[in-house]
Amino acid sequence: MAKWGMVIDLDKCTGCQACTTACAMENNRLPGENWQDVLFYTEGTYPSAQLKWFPRPCFHCEDPSCVHVCPTKATYKDPNGGFVLIDWNKCIGCKYCMIACPYGVRFYTDEKPVVGGPTGGPGPDIREVFPGDGKRSWNPPWRAPDARDDWVHGVGIQPKGVVSKCTFCYHKVSKAPPGTPDLDEDDPALKEYVPACVRTCPPKARYFGDLDNPESRVSKLIADKRGVRLKDETGNKPQVYYLSGGAGPAVPSTRETVKKT
Ligand code: SF4
Ligand code: SF4
Repeated sequence: MAKWGMVIDLDKCTGCQACTTACAMENNRLPGENWQDVLFYTEGTYPSAQLKWFPRPCFHCEDPSCVHVCPTKATYKDPNGGFVLIDWNKCIGCKYCMIACPYGVRFYTDEKPVVGGPTGGPGPDIREVFPGDGKRSWNPPWRAPDARDDWVHGVGIQPKGVVSKCTFCYHKVSKAPPGTPDLDEDDPALKEYVPACVRTCPPKARYFGDLDNPESRVSKLIADKRGVRLKDETGNKPQVYYLSGGAGPAVPSTRETVKKT
């Protein structure tokens, strides 16, 4: 079984945020609550300072601290593919995982100040414009078919009172043919299985494949271009690697150097 992972080339990323938009559409996100965000930070000092982009999904860590602290085992590591997922049937919204995650990639919709909401500036609260029914937190206008809802794997429209996060597009990737080394968006036979952010990225800054296969493109990129993981000192062992080998940005080593867009 594959151990899925992502490689993001910071030298190629232009900060266009197409990935953020694609993820929001694919995964029914509330505006301003981005499972796939693009952070920015500065390198150097005036007058030669530069703005750098830093895309940040959930890292689907090999040894995830979010899993260790979850009291109901709602957050779990899927042995088939290495996804870290949330079973919305079991989540009680205690938010321990949000505190334990060193990367700040988990969301609790019920308290999030949404864009245009009462604390987000002028404009209507989008949850009032598209109100939820039953257990749903809201009903986005571009909502995917209900048949795709899969609460055991945190897929669908987020219910009220639970934590959510990037699933590595579990609903697509888990259907890929067994033994596939790379999910290449340019391969017509594979493109339907490629995560939305990877498939959308205009400069092709993202790669997705099997980290356990030494012949996969992601494994070769990590080896040849010295891929690095964010805050490796935490021991979480992210399954997302960054390349920054050229004249582009270095991977920031502390949260203090990263400012949210
Ligand atoms: S990045 Fe955070 S939420 Fe994602 S698996 Fe790692 S510890 Fe868990
Ligand atoms: S779509 Fe690609 S280039 Fe655009 S911000 Fe995301 S990773 Fe960077």
